[in-house]
Amino acid sequence: MASPMSVGAKLLMPAADFPQLLVALGRLGYRMVGPTLRDGQLIYGDLTGVADLPVGWTDAQEPGAFRLQPRDDQALFGYGVGQQSWKQFLFPSHHLLWRAERHENGFQIVPPAENVPRYAFIGVRACDLQAMVVQDRVFLQGPHVDPVYQARREQAFILAVNCGGRGCSTCFCVSMGSGPRATSGFDLALTEVLQEGNHYFLLEVGTERGVGVLQSAPHRLAAAAEIEAADGVVAARAANMGRKLDTQGLKELLYRNYEHPRWDEVTARCLNCGNCTWVCPTCFCHTVEEVTDLSGAVAERWRRQDVCFTVDYSYIHGGSIRSSPRSRYRQWLTHKLATWHDQFGCSGCVGCGRCLTWCPVGIDLTEEVRAIRDNEVPLKETEHGDH
Ligand code: SF4
Ligand code: SF4
Repeated sequence: MASPMSVGAKLLMPAADFPQLLVALGRLGYRMVGPTLRDGQLIYGDLTGVADLPVGWTDAQEPGAFRLQPRDDQALFGYGVGQQSWKQFLFPSHHLLWRAERHENGFQIVPPAENVPRYAFIGVRACDLQAMVVQDRVFLQGPHVDPVYQARREQAFILAVNCGGRGCSTCFCVSMGSGPRATSGFDLALTEVLQEGNHYFLLEVGTERGVGVLQSAPHRLAAAAEIEAADGVVAARAANMGRKLDTQGLKELLYRNYEHPRWDEVTARCLNCGNCTWVCPTCFCHTVEEVTDLSGAVAERWRRQDVCFTVDYSYIHGGSIRSSPRSRYRQWLTHKLATWHDQFGCSGCVGCGRCLTWCPVGIDLTEEVRAIRDNEVPLKETEHGDH
């Protein structure tokens, strides 16, 4: 059996001692960010202690709807994911790439002086951990490493939280093999257990960094019954998934049905607002803009997050190559579930459910795929897809 302070150990921490874990992270110089309530919304923001977490709250989610509701206990992590994801910290939506300053002898390019935050992400769900793995492939494992993402990702401490209980109805992580248990990629992972008057965390140590943080946070080796109880919490969540996506042959299915009438039906409802992409933890589209000051002495180049639902995004030499709303929706869904596999060797969807919840008209990608699968209208060899 692993010793209490080694990687792989399963430890028990009473909920009353959890604040000391955050204190330990703060002492080590981490900037803690995690779920918190602001203006009636569940968002990720700076944490100074347990009181900043949405203690005693849960969420009810449906396609097109998100509601916060009080719980009848004091669970620290008794809710699912909100509209934001961790990509806002690793892939900032606005980032200064460089600035040019005019001097007597011409322009000088000045790289931005940056103090990269050393984040501790508190409460990362398994689906969002997988989303980081997906973005790692995009930003770190291609021919060009993105230094902005790399600097933030490498030093981030990850405290994962396994999902338990009933959970929200829009996620489908079991179908995507991404949850509800975090299996790797964390420094520490916890399962919150509230049973028979007991409130504790089952902690799994993932890295030596996790061991280091536990040096000054109280814990003991978990008993077999405590491990079993925590496993039961996660198993209950897996058994109560609100949705399912049949991924069998999915890439080929979508390639075969490029001209399926369902694309017209969904586009009749889709507002092309792009919400589904803004909230998605794996979407990485961005554009680059130059701005100058009024005196003409300074010009700056900014990277800005963008989405594939705008006409401008696919503007290439005189026009947009995806001029119809239909082509833009189809591009988004087929990229997530099909071409992403060809590009990055994995799915672009981790089943977090955000795109369902935050779509203003409640479009559900699992339903769209099912509609195509149940009534295939394959592309004939002589046909070519429209734009
Ligand atoms: S496509 Fe939707 S369900 Fe899949 S990862 Fe993105 S937001 Fe989550
Ligand atoms: S699917 Fe929904 S969220 Fe996405 S662009 Fe269409 S209306 Fe907006």
